[in-house]
Amino acid sequence: MPDCLFCGIAAGQIPATVVLDGKRILAFRDINPQAPTHVLVVPRDHFPNVAALAAAGDGQLDELVSTARDIAVAEGIDATGYRVVFNTGQDAGQTVEHVHAHVLGGRPMAWPPG
Ligand code: IMP
Repeated sequence: MPDCLFCGIAAGQIPATVVLDGKRILAFRDINPQAPTHVLVVPRDHFPNVAALAAAGDGQLDELVSTARDIAVAEGIDATGYRVVFNTGQDAGQTVEHVHAHVLGGRPMAWPPG
C-alpha cells in the first residue's frame, strides 16, 4: 500500500524501534508512548483495520493477538495487567489506517478511556 506509514516500517524503509521481527507480524515501540510500555503490533500485510483483518480469516488476527500476549510477557507487564487496544475508525481515534494492536502497560489505567 503506497504512502502507508506502517507498511513503510514493515518494509524497513522507515526507522522504528523493533521489538519483534516475525515472518507475518512486526512489533515496534510507539513513537509517542502513553504508558511505560507502549508497543504496536502489526501484520506485515496491509489491512486498514481489525475488522478487515478478521474478515481475511487466515489466522493473522489470532497471530496478532497471541503476539500481543508474547510482547506483554517479554516486557514484564503480564503479571500486573495490560491493555490491548484496536482503535477502529474515526470516532475511536484511529490515525494510522494499517491495523495495529496497542499493547500498553506498566502503570494503572482508568476506565472508561477518554
Ligand atoms: P492510532 O491512533 O490508534 O491509529 O495509533 C497510531 C499510533 O501510531 C499512535 O499511538 C502514534 O503515536 C503511533 N505512531 C505514529 N507514527 C509512528 C512511527 O513512526 N513510529 C511508531 N509509532 C508511530
